[in-house]
Amino acid sequence: MDLPIFTTPSELGHYLQSHRSQAIGFVPTMGALHLGHQSLIDRARHENTLAVVSIFVNPLQFGANEDLDQYPRQLEIDRVICETAGVDALFVPTPESMGINNTLTQIIPPPLMLSGLCGRTRVGHFQGVATIVTKLLNIVQPDRAYFGEKDSQQLAIIRRIVTDLNIPVDIVGCPTLRAASGLAHSSRNQYLSPTGKSQAAVIYRSLQQARAVANSGEVHAPSILAAVMTELATVPEFELEYLELVDRHSLQSLDTVENSALLAIAGRIENTRLIDNIIIEPHRLNYDLE
Ligand code: AMP
Repeated sequence: MDLPIFTTPSELGHYLQSHRSQAIGFVPTMGALHLGHQSLIDRARHENTLAVVSIFVNPLQFGANEDLDQYPRQLEIDRVICETAGVDALFVPTPESMGINNTLTQIIPPPLMLSGLCGRTRVGHFQGVATIVTKLLNIVQPDRAYFGEKDSQQLAIIRRIVTDLNIPVDIVGCPTLRAASGLAHSSRNQYLSPTGKSQAAVIYRSLQQARAVANSGEVHAPSILAAVMTELATVPEFELEYLELVDRHSLQSLDTVENSALLAIAGRIENTRLIDNIIIEPHRLNYDLE
């Protein structure tokens, strides 16, 4: 059967009405689907009876000088990817049907979770994410919703919102899928030239250097961060925006790592903004997540 596509919340709601007795897994995306998205979709399929994917390039999460207009849109390719992956329903809402206008009620995440990492420079971004993800969760009402650990600040904020607002859904964090070079798959990788892609591999390489230092027992943030900076210096084309070691739930900066910590980085190659992160655990030797 052809994959059904719904373009308004009421159309999707009507379809889901007859499936409410089944476990529903939901994967919200902005499209330009890649292997990272597909890993979320596979997991949603395996852990639920019904898998719903949304594609919505959310205007609220783009700043005035960001790439909303250039953001890759490839609905027909995405539809085929979803159909092949066994998705049951595709939700591609129009901005109007999502109520995108200046008077829309906004969800404001806790300010302390916005003061660092991407929140520092992308003012308003996580408010836009929180507002639309909350709406999507209310529209789909899934049992489980799947989010990538690649967007670690987004994941922490969404977990917090779901807890604080008592939204009845399990938020499932999924590991980052990477190219063989270590570069995390991202829709924005399409902007990079082959040279840019190979230069961008320094991001994950540098995070791994930090993990090696932490695995040798180093718990002090300056030493762990210095290991990243040393590796980054091998690719001067990489323009660092931030490098932070924070608590993975509160996102507050850490001076030393007690148990585990989120090491997160953002920067630009060929003017394309890329983010990545790893969890480091100095006291857990031979740690092998990725
Ligand atoms: P996006 O379309 O960029 O909004 O991403 C949709 C979802 O896919 C988010 O939960 C992302 O964190 C997740 N995602 C993006 N890239 C990856 C990746 N390389 N591995 C796993 N999940 C990812």
